[in-house]
Amino acid sequence: MIIAIDGPAGAGKGTISKLLAKRLNAVYIDTGSMYRSLTYKVLRDNIDMTSEELVAKALKEANLEITKDDRNLLDGEDITPYIRTEEINKNISIICSYPSVREQMRVKQRAFAKNNDIVMEGRDITTEVFPDADYKFYLDASIEERTNRRVKQNEELGLESNYDEIYESIKNRDHSDMTRKYGALKRTPEQIYIDSSNMTIEEVVDYMMEVIK
Ligand code: C5P
Repeated sequence: MIIAIDGPAGAGKGTISKLLAKRLNAVYIDTGSMYRSLTYKVLRDNIDMTSEELVAKALKEANLEITKDDRNLLDGEDITPYIRTEEINKNISIICSYPSVREQMRVKQRAFAKNNDIVMEGRDITTEVFPDADYKFYLDASIEERTNRRVKQNEELGLESNYDEIYESIKNRDHSDMTRKYGALKRTPEQIYIDSSNMTIEEVVDYMMEVIK
């Protein structure tokens, strides 16, 4: 079984997908973390991110893993604490815009479904990675609510956070996620649309479980 969930930054996809996967005894995959890990590598190694060729090469040479307990490994090193910084948020869009990068990521993402039931979330999962998924959801929330949630999430991770800076960063990422030429975040008639602005996490998960049953 494949459950695909797309939606904008900060809509709660991570938390909700994780809980859903637990209830369904499926594997949870956060595809944003894969793009974050690559951005981390590009920044760390001073790779020219304006070169699609160099970024695609960096991905080819990288060993990206997601462990069962949801840690992100880059060539065996646990980089989970370093991939959710504003520096990564600011630089990730260009890396996500390259078709040769997205194509490699999709191959990796599809491989997760070979031996597992999965709940996978991102931007192009319902449209490009698994257009034939058993269930497709689009999880949305207002930009104010999404900013509040990211501020709280950062605080929990011990990262500094400034409301206005995060609001602008989410707005910019929405814009680049929705307007890029390849792998843009899209709403389609096949997706089940959920606006979680006024819903609790449990309510969203319960609703999804109802749909799936
Ligand atoms: O979901 P998260 O906010 O962690 O994703 C980080 C960035 O990775 C997003 O802004 C988006 O540009 C990109 N992304 C993507 N395709 C995916 C998942 C994430 O381009 N499937």
